[in-house]
Amino acid sequence: MTMTPGTEIVELETGVYARLHEGLTNAGIIIGDNGVLVIDSLRVPSFARDLIQDVRHITSKPIQYVIDTHAHWDHSWGNEEFPEATIIGHENCYDEMVDVEWNRQWREKVIAANDPWSEEAHIVNITPPNLTFETSMQLRFGGRAIDLKYFGKAHTSGDIFIFLPEEKIAFTGDVAMDRGVPFLGDSYPAEWPGTDDRLVELPIERFVAGHGPIGDHDALLQARDFIHSLVANLKTAIQDGQDEGAASATVSDALNSQFGDFRGIEGLKDNLPEVYRKLKA
Ligand SMILES: [Zn+2]
Repeated sequence: MTMTPGTEIVELETGVYARLHEGLTNAGIIIGDNGVLVIDSLRVPSFARDLIQDVRHITSKPIQYVIDTHAHWDHSWGNEEFPEATIIGHENCYDEMVDVEWNRQWREKVIAANDPWSEEAHIVNITPPNLTFETSMQLRFGGRAIDLKYFGKAHTSGDIFIFLPEEKIAFTGDVAMDRGVPFLGDSYPAEWPGTDDRLVELPIERFVAGHGPIGDHDALLQARDFIHSLVANLKTAIQDGQDEGAASATVSDALNSQFGDFRGIEGLKDNLPEVYRKLKA
């Protein structure tokens, strides 16, 4: 058996792995006594099957739990490949995944993008979590505590953090990345900074985001600062009476000078008008 091309499995602690996928979406793998817990099921069923294959390099134990960090297609559209597993997510993640119109739009976008996985998007059976929670939940799994935390709306309405208190490791979905600009299209910019403030209260030393490399504590603070700066700069531009175009240019310039090494910073300007409109409303 060979590993899925472009992927790398990094052992963070005994039984705790990050499965990084270059340029695509990361997953987490935690091995328990009798089973496996997977964080994010990835973009379409074939990607989930590849993930399951890669888990088989580590263990033959069955996958008992899937945790959805949030409802976005590239993190959760592989859920249907885990019919035996308990799929855990935030209640807002559930609501988004059963929102027919929201998912119809996403399916159209993914198909229109004409990527290698676009064709498969036609046949995805979007499968929401079957166990949801409101603010927090704790699993005892493989002798370790796994805390699931909800700190409010941010990148979507239902982002959760998977935190291992003993190991000081977190899986942060798309809310906080290691020097990367997150997708802002479904975001809640008025609430995101506060959610980040609560996230950085956790004693996190290393984190695995939905995209990009593994981050350290400093990178987590930078991710928080990025969102704070983005929102604060946009609010100032709105107060100054700048229109959408001018505000986007000003804020993009400000963030480029402060966070020039962030992945995706060059595309930030195109994503700001939508955030501007949400903050103005
Ligand atoms: Zn996302």
